[in-house]
Amino acid sequence: MPGRPESAHDEAEALLPWYATGQLDTADRALVERHLESCAECQRQLHAERVLIDEFQTLSPEIDTSWARLRSRIGSTQRREPQWRQAVGEFWQLLNRPAVAALAAAQLAFVVLAATVALSLSRPSADHSPASACSARAPARPT
Ligand SMILES: [Zn+2]
Repeated sequence: MPGRPESAHDEAEALLPWYATGQLDTADRALVERHLESCAECQRQLHAERVLIDEFQTLSPEIDTSWARLRSRIGSTQRREPQWRQAVGEFWQLLNRPAVAALAAAQLAFVVLAATVALSLSRPSADHSPASACSARAPARPT
C-alpha cells in the first residue's frame, strides 16, 4: 500500500545498508534520500551504519568480498522476499554485534603489542652476547 509512512520507513530502512555503502541504483537512492529528509530515526541509523562500515573496512578489507557475495545472493532472488530480508538481517546482525567489533579491535591491538614486544626483546639479546663469550673463556685456566 503506497503512501503509508510505515511502509516507506520499512523500505528505506531495509535499503540503508546499501545506501550507506553507495551500492543503490538511482531510483532506490532517491527513495531513501526522500525518506531520510523526514525521518530522524533513519538518519540516526544511517549514521550508525556508516560508522560501523567505516570501522569494518579499516579492520578487515575482505568485507568488500562479503558485500559482493551478499549482493550476488540478493541479485539471484526477488527483492522484498523474506530471503532477501533474511540475508540482510543476518549480515547486519553480524555488523551490529559490538563483540565482533571489539574482538577485531582487540586482535589488532594484540598484534601490534606482540610485534612491539618481539622487536624490543630480540634487540638486547643480540647485544648481550659478550656474557656468553666470557663464560666460554673462563674454563680455560691452568691446572
Ligand atoms: Zn524512517
